[in-house]
Amino acid sequence: MDTNLITLPYALDSLDPVLSAETLSIHHGKHLGAYVTNLNAALPGSGFEGLSLEEIVAKAPAGKIFNNAGQILNHNLYFLQFTPTPVLEGPTGKLKEAIDKTFGSFEEFKKTFTSQGAALFGSGWIWLAEDAEGSLVIKQYSNAGNPVADGLKPILTFDVWEHAYYVDYRNRRPDYLGAIWNILDWNVISNRF
Ligand code: MN
Repeated sequence: MDTNLITLPYALDSLDPVLSAETLSIHHGKHLGAYVTNLNAALPGSGFEGLSLEEIVAKAPAGKIFNNAGQILNHNLYFLQFTPTPVLEGPTGKLKEAIDKTFGSFEEFKKTFTSQGAALFGSGWIWLAEDAEGSLVIKQYSNAGNPVADGLKPILTFDVWEHAYYVDYRNRRPDYLGAIWNILDWNVISNRF
């Protein structure tokens, strides 16, 4: 993934009412847009020019470049996993097998993932990631954190910064976390594993 602002593969109003056009417009255009602007302003002369977002996140020390590259990578994975026309209610193929093996069932995984997202204090992200042995883990990261920084492969993520849900759900983070399961594109997500 490069450092330009991604184009959303769906219309701004197409995920309503789970995520309204106003939320998507601000979240993609303003929040993600600002991370893109800030990273591209900070890259020249930094030694990180020309690297992929994943390489920057894996190598950059804590600070402006890590934070902005991390937030671009996080938001790209987040926005590109949604669809207005979900055709699958859960994972398929080897991701389904791994979720069943690790968490007992998809329903148990959903419960654990949602409750850990609700419990994450402050701003951050809840992740399903794959470790070096091919096993699945749920990880909570604050701020711009991403599993790539720990050598893990990101599979699924929910943004729990307030800007992701405050327009539509106010302070009701658990309601937002419960609703976004309904717009996931399990073809995209299963192919990440
Ligand atoms: Mn966000």
